[in-house]
Amino acid sequence: DNQLYWLRNDLRIRDNHALWHACDKGNVIAVCLITPDTWQDHDDAGVKIDFWLRSLRTLKASFDELGIPLRIVHCKRFSDSPQALLQLARETDAQGIFFNDEYGIHEQDRDDAVSEAFADASLTCHRYADQVLFMPGSLRTQEGSMYKVFSQFRKQANQRLHDSLPECLPAPNRQTLSGVTSDTVPESIPGFAPASKEQQETWPAGEQAANSRLKLFAEEILFDYKDLRDQPAVDGTSRLSAYLTIGVLSARQCLHAAVAANQGELDSGNPGAVAWVSELLWREFYKHILVCYPRVSRSRAFRPETEAVPWRDDPEGLAAWQQGRTGIPIVDAAMRQLLATGWMHNRLRMISAMFLTKNLLIDWREGESWFMRHLIDGDLASNNGGWQWSASTGTDSAPYFRVFNPVTQSQRFDPEGHFIRTWIPELRDLDAKQIHQPPAGDLFGTADYPRPIVDLGDSRKRAIAAFKSLGDQS
Ligand code: FAD
Repeated sequence: DNQLYWLRNDLRIRDNHALWHACDKGNVIAVCLITPDTWQDHDDAGVKIDFWLRSLRTLKASFDELGIPLRIVHCKRFSDSPQALLQLARETDAQGIFFNDEYGIHEQDRDDAVSEAFADASLTCHRYADQVLFMPGSLRTQEGSMYKVFSQFRKQANQRLHDSLPECLPAPNRQTLSGVTSDTVPESIPGFAPASKEQQETWPAGEQAANSRLKLFAEEILFDYKDLRDQPAVDGTSRLSAYLTIGVLSARQCLHAAVAANQGELDSGNPGAVAWVSELLWREFYKHILVCYPRVSRSRAFRPETEAVPWRDDPEGLAAWQQGRTGIPIVDAAMRQLLATGWMHNRLRMISAMFLTKNLLIDWREGESWFMRHLIDGDLASNNGGWQWSASTGTDSAPYFRVFNPVTQSQRFDPEGHFIRTWIPELRDLDAKQIHQPPAGDLFGTADYPRPIVDLGDSRKRAIAAFKSLGDQS
C-alpha cells in the first residue's frame, strides 16, 4: 500500500513517529506544502524559512537514500491543505496519511480539516504526538487542572520520565522505489527575505549538523551549562533551538544525550545537565499551555486582568528598540545580535523584552511579533511564553514589581563588556566600567551612540504604577 507522510516541522528521518509508522505500514511518499500566505500571517522570519528550506534539502538527500520520493505542493494557505493532500493521495493511489501533531490553533484547525477530509474520502489518517515528551494535557494537578506553575509541572514531568524515558526511534529502512518522482526543493520563497551568507554559515542545516552540535555540547559544554548559560559573550548554551523548532532534532534525542552524559541521572547528578533538562521542560510546558489555554494562541494575555494594562503608543520608542538604538548598550547589543544572526541569547531575550514592556511600557504583542519576524527559532509557544513571562501577563510570570534593571543585568552577565563591544562598535573603546552606561559627551568617538531614550528609574516606577492600578480596580 502507498501511504503519504506529510512533513511540516519534523524535518528528520531519525526518531520521527509519523515517518516511522508510515514506513511500517507501506510504501511512503513524503509530501510538504508550501503555504507562504499563512506563514506571512504567522510572522515567520525569512531566516527561518531559509533554514527550513535548507534543512528540507538535506532531508531530501536522506529520503533519496531511503527510496522515499518527496513531493512539494505549492499552495497559499493552511486552508488549502485538505484539497492539495487529497489530490495527491488520489494521484499516488495512497491509502492514508501520517503526520505529527502541531499545537497552535491554526495548525490544529488545519490538521482537523485534513483528518475529516480523509475520513470523508474513506482514507485513513494517523496522527502522533512527536514534538512533545508527553501528550499535551496529560500532566495535571491533583484537582485535574493544567499546571500554571512551571516548578510543579517539572516535578511531575520528572516523575513520569523516571518511570519511563521515552525511547528514540531509529531511521526507517530503505524501501523499494515507488515510481513517484521527487520535486526540487525551491531555493527561496517569494515574500521572505533570503538569509545572509553569515547566517547560513552560523546555522548549518540538516540532521548531521544538529547531531554534531548536540554531541559537542553534551561533551564539552553541558557540565558547565549552569555556570555559563547566562553569559551572552560565552558559547555556553546548546544553540539547538532552531533545530528543535523545525524538528531537525527531537526533544527526546536531546534528553537522551543529557541523561547519557549525566550517567543515567535525570534530575540529580551534574547540575549543568539537570539545568539543561529543565530548559527542555520549559519548552514542553509552553506547548502544553498552548493546547490547554488556546487564548494565548489568539494573542490574548494568559492572565485576563492584564488585558487592561495601559500600554503606551510610542512608535519612536518601538523603532529605537527594534533597531538597537535605545541608548541602553546591553539592550541595543541584544537587538543587533537578533537582526544580524536571527538568534538572541536567552538572558538577553528576557532583558530586552522587559525593557520594551516595562521601561517603555509598550504592548508585549509588538515585541512578540518583532521577535517572530527575525528569529530563526521562532516558535509560537516558546516566544509567546517568554514574552508573557517578561511582561508579567503570563503563566508563572515575573512579578510585575520585579523589573530588571538592564544596566545591573549588563554589569552582572557581561562584566567586561565583551558582548556589548561585539555588537556596538561605537562603544568599543569604553572600559568595563563605562561601557554599561556610557557617559554623556563625545567620549572616544561615541557621539554616534544615542543617549538613553528613557530614564530607567522613572520608567520603572511608571510600569509598576500601571500594573498596580489593575490590582486596585479588581
Ligand atoms: P539552551 O539554553 O541550550 O536550551 C535548550 C533548549 O531548551 C532550547 O533550544 C529550547 O528548545 C529550550 N528552551 C530553553 N529555554 C527555554 C525557555 N525559556 N522557554 C522555552 N524553551 C526553552 N525559544 C524558542 O525556541 N523559540 C522562540 O521563539 C523563543 N522566544 C523567546 C522569547 C522570549 C522573550 C524569551 C524570554 C525566550 C524565548 N525563547 C524562545 C526561549 C529561549 O530564549 C531559547 O529557547 C534559547 O535562548 C535558545 O537557545 P539555546 O538553544 O542555546 O538554549
